[in-house]
Amino acid sequence: MITNQRRNFIHINEGFECAKCGTKVAPLKKSCRNHCPTCLYSMHVDETIPGDRASNCHSLMAPAGLEYKGSKGYQIVHKCIKCGKKQLNKVADDDDPKEISKINLK
Ligand SMILES: [Zn+2]
Ligand SMILES: [Zn+2]
Repeated sequence: MITNQRRNFIHINEGFECAKCGTKVAPLKKSCRNHCPTCLYSMHVDETIPGDRASNCHSLMAPAGLEYKGSKGYQIVHKCIKCGKKQLNKVADDDDPKEISKINLK
């Protein structure tokens, strides 16, 4: 059977290979995966709204700090190493606690 069905819908919650440490990161079931659980680096892909993928910077974002927000819990402050943009990302369940405590001490 031949179909011309297009499969180009957008996966927001997608797996990726970490550009920093090479870890193959699987998608999260519960929430959007936007950083590597091994080294906690993220990528600058969103411009204004998380998930908009509107940025053309595409540089690594380094974990620069931790903030605690009552309703959301701990958030990692990611800072783009190229343009300096800061973004908050929720800590994921499988983030390496040793890496989390490293940025906590900064
Ligand atoms: Zn990584
Ligand atoms: Zn950037």
